[in-house]
Amino acid sequence: MTDQTEDTFQSFHHAEKTTDEPLIRVMALHALAYCERLYYLEEVEEIRVADANVYSGRRLHDKIDKGPDIYSLELASERLGIRGKIDCVKRRSGELVVSEHKKGKSNKGEEAWPSDRLQVLAYALLLGEHTGEQINEAHIRYHADNRTIKIRVSPEEAEKEVEAAVQRAWQLRSALQRPPVTASEYQCRTCSLAPVCLPEEERFSEEQGDRKVQRLFPQDDERRVIHLVEQGASIRKDGEQFVIYLTDGTKKQLPGRQIGSLVLHGNVQISTQCIHFCAANNIGVHWLSFGGHYVGGLQPGSGGVQRRVRQYQALSDPGLCRQLTRRLALAKIENQLRYILRATRDKKQDSRDKETELAIEQLRASIKALSSLDGDAAQKVENEDTGKEPIDFIRGHEGIAGRIYFSLLPRILKLAEDDFLAFDGRNRRPPRDPFNAMLSFGYALLYKDCVAALQAVGLDPSFGFMHTPRSAAYPLALDLMDLFRLILWDIPLIGSVNRKQWSKDDFAVTGKQVWLNADGRRKAISIYESRKQEKWKHPVLNYSLSYARTIELEARLLEKEWGGQPGLFAGLRLR
Ligand code: SF4
Repeated sequence: MTDQTEDTFQSFHHAEKTTDEPLIRVMALHALAYCERLYYLEEVEEIRVADANVYSGRRLHDKIDKGPDIYSLELASERLGIRGKIDCVKRRSGELVVSEHKKGKSNKGEEAWPSDRLQVLAYALLLGEHTGEQINEAHIRYHADNRTIKIRVSPEEAEKEVEAAVQRAWQLRSALQRPPVTASEYQCRTCSLAPVCLPEEERFSEEQGDRKVQRLFPQDDERRVIHLVEQGASIRKDGEQFVIYLTDGTKKQLPGRQIGSLVLHGNVQISTQCIHFCAANNIGVHWLSFGGHYVGGLQPGSGGVQRRVRQYQALSDPGLCRQLTRRLALAKIENQLRYILRATRDKKQDSRDKETELAIEQLRASIKALSSLDGDAAQKVENEDTGKEPIDFIRGHEGIAGRIYFSLLPRILKLAEDDFLAFDGRNRRPPRDPFNAMLSFGYALLYKDCVAALQAVGLDPSFGFMHTPRSAAYPLALDLMDLFRLILWDIPLIGSVNRKQWSKDDFAVTGKQVWLNADGRRKAISIYESRKQEKWKHPVLNYSLSYARTIELEARLLEKEWGGQPGLFAGLRLR
């Protein structure tokens, strides 16, 4: 490459600086040609996931042998409406050639993939406009099958193709709804956004369950959740590591990339540098009060005003709110009933006492009433003399079922009447006995995870459907929590009580208030986090995943209720 040619490439992004409309990235056109939904998720909703494929692609570009050619050239054109970064520009036989490197295989060893072809055509146009030379050829090097595909470039044809793609990209930018999933299931298997897009679940919903769902949603999150309960501890950053300083002078180091979230209980300090690192690396930070109340958090989530607008529009529709409330209440009561049936069965006598049988019948009656309440039936309730809105009718059944469920807990807890953990009904704010202190603390941990899941999905937790904004708690997080209270906290907690894992030393008493102390909190956190890592099979989608991932999955399925693929949210049932 001559000095003169190098001078030709000195000015980058000139057009970008002079135009009001943002230019479309060439890689966005690549995504568009691959799948319109992928383009929409990345460019409109601003969701990007750097998975193993993306990282290995970056490493490939770092490793490419640097020859006498020009690498990583950034160009922009206001006329074309695009900007991009070319892997490499070569001069061959006197002509400039665009050269791209791809980690995967070519199309049957003979052709470039359509999205790759569109990408190099756009680069050829940018390069031609910038240098004033006609670009007649582009090369794509596919490293997996060691093929170089040469593409002839006709500037007029290329311009038509790129212009059509840019127009489509602008159309989609102003659309409120996501485009449908691609017809090619194969493409989804290698798509980095499959865990966000959930294409298999959508196809399952459209085909009304008549297919086996291929799990593209990760089974678990390998990054760790770190709880800091030591009062007076502080956390700082050293390079890519977190360093925890404890009050006894010891310190612990944690690799930043292996952490999914930090949960700070009470008086624990965190440095500004740590918070910056967490925000930049998708690590959640959550603050809980000493008593276990959720104070607030930092959860880097997906942007995209479209998602919020869709949520507000959908949850302003009383019909949809009624439907979701009914399904959520049904899921909650059915799970309570299943658990009570399982936990109160006397294996020797194969029977239950009368009071338990009566309570079970009441739960069944609530399930029957809610099951029959759909569409027209819901409207009828409104017109009856009860004066109740249908949604209040549903909430009423949910509340009654909750009271029945808690009234049966003493029969499930194998405790003497005078045991320090004996439970005599739910109380809170503040809890007045050890069992209620444990319930409240576990629910605070669950609430934190529900807020984080909703924010990660890009939903506004303050706009719910069943709960109303009566307290500082986010209504949508309370809605989502109701699916998991029993499964993620009540069941493992009751198991730990019946295994005699708790002692009086785990609690602190202040007047009439009872709290978990540091040891008690550590115990509760360990039970809760272990439960989250347990795998189970989703009863609707029929694939296995951890409970931790199930919270996010249900948040994503909830969003699909107004995204055109309803019917999958709150199908979760105890087996
Ligand atoms: S998962 Fe499939 S449908 Fe969804 S964005 Fe990726 S390729 Fe498109």
